[in-house]
Amino acid sequence: MSSYVIAADIGGTNFRAATVSDKGEITERRDAPTPPGAGPEQLLEALAGLLETIAMAGKPARAACLAVPGLVNAMTGTIVIAPNVPGFRNLQLGPALEQRLGMPVVLENDASAAALGELRFGAARGVRHLVHITAGTGIGGGIIVDGRLYRGANGFAGEIGHIVMDPAGPVCNCGARGCLESLVSGVALATRARRLLANGVSPTLRDIVGVREPTGADLFAAAKAGDKHCEAEIRHAGHVLGLGIGSLVNVLNPEMVTLSGGMLVMGEMLLEPMHEGLRSMAYGSAGTVEVRITELADEPGLLGAAAVAFALLDIE
Ligand SMILES: [Zn+2]
Repeated sequence: MSSYVIAADIGGTNFRAATVSDKGEITERRDAPTPPGAGPEQLLEALAGLLETIAMAGKPARAACLAVPGLVNAMTGTIVIAPNVPGFRNLQLGPALEQRLGMPVVLENDASAAALGELRFGAARGVRHLVHITAGTGIGGGIIVDGRLYRGANGFAGEIGHIVMDPAGPVCNCGARGCLESLVSGVALATRARRLLANGVSPTLRDIVGVREPTGADLFAAAKAGDKHCEAEIRHAGHVLGLGIGSLVNVLNPEMVTLSGGMLVMGEMLLEPMHEGLRSMAYGSAGTVEVRITELADEPGLLGAAAVAFALLDIE
């Protein structure tokens, strides 16, 4: 007989929740808009209401997990900072939700949850030592050591986007300079696109963007259409991503590295220079480590959260 958990994915525009089986099947799914500008109590109410609806409509669940884009202390069930949902700041949600739902509730950073998701349901099944990287608007990550999520002293481990690649590089969201995220992310590529437009060297990009603000996707569209400047920016980002991954591989010696996130639509234009960068870092295992693309493409947030909830039940 299957067992079930409730998985939720907290986003800036939507809360998404579902019942998920131990085989990774999603049996109930509901979305609710994130109340704009809401304070902590309204957010808690909206979230608890959604989870209660799922709990009553779906299969009997034994635990729940919320995947949160931000800094989360899984031990205390506290969201420290979630940049896309400003109302969730220093908010201890875990105990209140446990009381409402009558089951154990764990909160986890979304990229760390995605790492466990790949391990249980995705590309890294059977792997004991894994580094997972999410490359989208920002860069996130999760580290699995000996089959378990490595959370660190305060639950903040895995902030792979904030390893410094260039101390003289652009200022990052976190305040430091030259973080991986400030050089390789959707936001970083949008910044590079703005620069190309200001320099007037990419007429193809100008045609695509018109008068609006450029995005990383625009840069890729122009590169695909043959714009060499745009392609060079993406290839450079891929190379730097490879150097970052290589550094982590040299430190952690994982069996596998898995990748997910919106930047993967750039395909080989990003991944080929990434592999070159990674191999160039070969000291120990960086030359041979296996790199795989996510197999949770449809629902990485929900399946990641479900994997964290199942891991909680495994410990009990
Ligand atoms: Zn940073």
